[in-house]
Amino acid sequence: MIGLIAATAAGSIAGERLTAAWPGRCRVYEGPVREAVARAFAECEGLVCFLATGAAVRLVAPLLTDKAADPGVVCVDEALRHAVALVGGHGGGANELTRQVADVLGCAPVVTTATDAVDVPGLDTLGWPVEGAVAAVGRAVLDGAPVRLDADAVHPLPALPPNVSPAAGGATADGAAFTLRVTDREVPGEGRTAVLRPPTLVVGVGASRGAGTEEVLELITRTLADAGLSPRSVAALATVDAKADEAGLVEASARLGVPLVTHPAEVLAAVEVPNPSEAPLAAVGTPSVAEAAALAGAPGGELIVPKRKSAPEGRPAMCTAAVARRRPRGRLAVVGLGPGARDLLTPRAREELRRASVVVGLDQYVDQVRDLLRPGTRVLESGLGAEEERARTAVAEARAGHAVALIGSGDAGVYAMASPALAEASDDIDVAGVPGVTAALAAAAILGAPLGHDHVSISLSDLHTPWEVIERRVRAAAESDMVVTFYNPRSRGRHWQLPKALDILAGHRSPTTPVGIVHAATRADERSCVTTLAALDVEQVDMVTVVVVGNTATRNVAGRMVTPRGYRWQTAGTAGTSGTAGGEQ
Ligand code: SAH
Repeated sequence: MIGLIAATAAGSIAGERLTAAWPGRCRVYEGPVREAVARAFAECEGLVCFLATGAAVRLVAPLLTDKAADPGVVCVDEALRHAVALVGGHGGGANELTRQVADVLGCAPVVTTATDAVDVPGLDTLGWPVEGAVAAVGRAVLDGAPVRLDADAVHPLPALPPNVSPAAGGATADGAAFTLRVTDREVPGEGRTAVLRPPTLVVGVGASRGAGTEEVLELITRTLADAGLSPRSVAALATVDAKADEAGLVEASARLGVPLVTHPAEVLAAVEVPNPSEAPLAAVGTPSVAEAAALAGAPGGELIVPKRKSAPEGRPAMCTAAVARRRPRGRLAVVGLGPGARDLLTPRAREELRRASVVVGLDQYVDQVRDLLRPGTRVLESGLGAEEERARTAVAEARAGHAVALIGSGDAGVYAMASPALAEASDDIDVAGVPGVTAALAAAAILGAPLGHDHVSISLSDLHTPWEVIERRVRAAAESDMVVTFYNPRSRGRHWQLPKALDILAGHRSPTTPVGIVHAATRADERSCVTTLAALDVEQVDMVTVVVVGNTATRNVAGRMVTPRGYRWQTAGTAGTSGTAGGEQ
């Protein structure tokens, strides 16, 4: 819950805007501000104070206890010019809340936490536990001092700045080196090493009915400690379906703060394990629970601690445990950048770009977002044409464990990289698609409302598709009276395809049918016009253009192209009285 505190009418009105934008997420704290702040501080994860920073500092200061537990506090000035992350930047989420508030209220976000300000990910913002010399190494990362990156495997982390590298010598004036270890192993702690804990370990557990939580936890702790593994790298406990409600396991997973994942007995029975036995086969239908469940939760991984039994004093053991290590899964984000305008790049696309350590794309698209990439991002750009190769590169980088963003203009799935990439991708990587505003939609918004009824996109590029197929589709669109958006309509080497396609449409539509031409939609050199099938000048059309041809009902209304939702055109005089699609959405 986000607590809103305002001292003035302007603040209350701004607070109402946040409440409207985030239904169910805000609570307004009324009354004297001192008490309101104190109550909100105790009850909320975040506070938005419409107060001067000075006032907010004085009110919040006596309430502060712990950086990790305190709520984030954001201050917004009376004129709504600035949203300031006051305290709880990382732990309290104030930096993120500041950006969200700024987005809704249209003010400038002010974030002063060093790592955010210089665009380097904070070690505590990577989503994984971090321990050791976090502050010292974090500062070294930030200061550009050499930090040796020592990772047991390649993980899908965001880009780290160039001073953090496996090759960094890291020797400082006094001879010691800063090191960032990425490992699930216990490593000797010393003042210049921070350790990031990847979620790589799956602990398989078997338990007899009634096994106690303490016995389960003691076994897990001892098993990990004996193997030199960190409990903070445990991603999950795993067991057989029949034990999903076993109290000792449920409680142990809750205490460790990890999920209890269960698998059907048949699945576990099919996993090859070093130490099968008769007892679980009889009880739950699989010769192994601990080892098989550990392995089942770690596809492509390996068993690193075989089955061990608990050792309670003076009674028989009631549980078993085994540990498997997951192979890190790389991540491939296929990201649409939109048609060109920066404010049509979605926040999600932006986030994926900043989450990636490798960006793959056509050079001109990389240029569109280069300033958004984190320093240290590896950019693999290529020229037009090398599509298959780009797709293969992106998939190969993800399979190697990296976080990769494969970018394309508009929507990356529309005549673009998503399909060649996913045709290459295997199930050992995570894939995330981020939709973008495709050229047809950007153009339609500029032209008016040409896509108000059924419509189709057709690419006129016969590079990937034989012309016969393209022509058959144009004909079908013509016969079915679809509005058509032509992508790739014309290039230096391809002149005759567009006139030919328009000819086919003209066989079914009148010469006065409106046609919209949009060049470089939403970019600095945007040009557009609404003309007709008969008057269209193909010379105006190039490769950065889409051509939208109306259907038999499309009209030019005040220079805008409008396709009615129903086929009966309503004039202003009859609007609302005829029987067309009334209130339908
Ligand atoms: N993935 C892209 C399309 C790639 S095909 C998308 O979803 O928009 C390339 C064709 O898209 C170009 O030849 C042109 O016809 C069209 N196109 C892409 N961006 C455009 C823009 N900003 N304005 C007009 N047409 C555009």
